[in-house]
Amino acid sequence: MAPGSVAASWIFPHGMGMTSEIHFLLHQAMSSRRDDLIALTQDLIRIPTLNPPGENYRAICEYLDARLRSSGFETQLIRAHGTPGDSSKYPRWNIIARKDGAQPGDCVHFNSHTDVVDVGLGWTKDPFGGELEDGRIYGRGACDMKGGLAASIIAAEAFIATCPDFAGAIEISGTADEESGGYGGVAYLAEHGHFDPAKVQHVIIPEPLNKDRVCLGHRGGWWAEIETFGEIAHGSMPFLGDCAVRHMGAVIDKFESDLYPAMAARRTDMPVVPEGARSSTMNINSIHGGQNEQAEDSTALPSHCVPDSCRIVIDRRFLVEEPLDQVRAEVKELLDGLKDDRPKFEYALRELNHVLPSMTDRDAPVAATVAEAINSVLGQEAEFVASPGTYDQKHIDRIGKLKNCVAYGPGILELAHKPDEWIGVDDMIDSANVMAQSLAKLLHAPSK
Ligand SMILES: [Zn+2]
Repeated sequence: MAPGSVAASWIFPHGMGMTSEIHFLLHQAMSSRRDDLIALTQDLIRIPTLNPPGENYRAICEYLDARLRSSGFETQLIRAHGTPGDSSKYPRWNIIARKDGAQPGDCVHFNSHTDVVDVGLGWTKDPFGGELEDGRIYGRGACDMKGGLAASIIAAEAFIATCPDFAGAIEISGTADEESGGYGGVAYLAEHGHFDPAKVQHVIIPEPLNKDRVCLGHRGGWWAEIETFGEIAHGSMPFLGDCAVRHMGAVIDKFESDLYPAMAARRTDMPVVPEGARSSTMNINSIHGGQNEQAEDSTALPSHCVPDSCRIVIDRRFLVEEPLDQVRAEVKELLDGLKDDRPKFEYALRELNHVLPSMTDRDAPVAATVAEAINSVLGQEAEFVASPGTYDQKHIDRIGKLKNCVAYGPGILELAHKPDEWIGVDDMIDSANVMAQSLAKLLHAPSK
């Protein structure tokens, strides 16, 4: 089958439809693997892969390596040498596992990040305990996204056991650093040809977007630091200096009066959820002016100075309809405009990073197939959504040049990065079933 195409017809003309037979067998296979799915998810949560700094990446890759090799996959452990944060203490390890079918065909790749964010405060459960209670598994990364990774492994194993003569190949990757930009993970793998559309035709990223939604892509992001300058002087005679913090106050005032209303008025055709993110947004991540903050245990009193520097970091999320140059120019024009009212106004604008928006067409083979599988497993129409924040699809799209990619996985998006994060076992089973049905369709599977 040509890369990227979908099986046109796969209904048997007589007897039980092939569709319904495979559907039934996969459904059964998934139910019988419930305990295995729970144990796998718990094991993954119990490996604390905190990022930063990037802990236990090797350990989780070795765990996945053993698991997937015992399921008949060939595996490769790949260290992203020289990427941000990579060091002998915190090496950036990734794993790619591949299982070839009985005949040539498309390759379906499941990509999950293995890193989790800081635990934070407010937990009532052990963040790395993987506790199972009332059908929920708790822990940091349960929802984002070790539950999704476990579901994709179970889906692939159940599919291979049910349809051993499938055409094509299945790949499963566990990658580092998604939470810090993915440079030591998917970006590195994409740069080294692992998402070449000649080798991989369909990508599913099991991020927690809810089991009935197909996520087509994400908004763009532009991160920049703005610094205003002043002149240091004695705090009792501020008129002899120039206060950089007051200049920054004027910048923020201008954001409030001009930029925020303009951004709120822009609406995208991207199906971004939640609704509030369907406009352009901007967060001010940090502000700092004047002397460095003193250490918490310091008892010294600060000295009195007019601050000569003030810095903010902005996090501007933009829409597929907004060119990046326009996003940059809008802020620059606003800053330049302040010179008219404030003669001594001087600033520096430094770009820290940018990510362009990514959107897969909803008719793309993988998007249409997963939507159809949601319909057949859950008995409801799939909702197409886009993510407010970026995820590794950006690297698969921009570096790998692979457009046929969606995010689909169990877990409630709003629980990601929160205390007492959890994943529902039933949701994982349903989602794994959707993934397995998608494999059956994309890999032309005759059942045994
Ligand atoms: Zn995630």
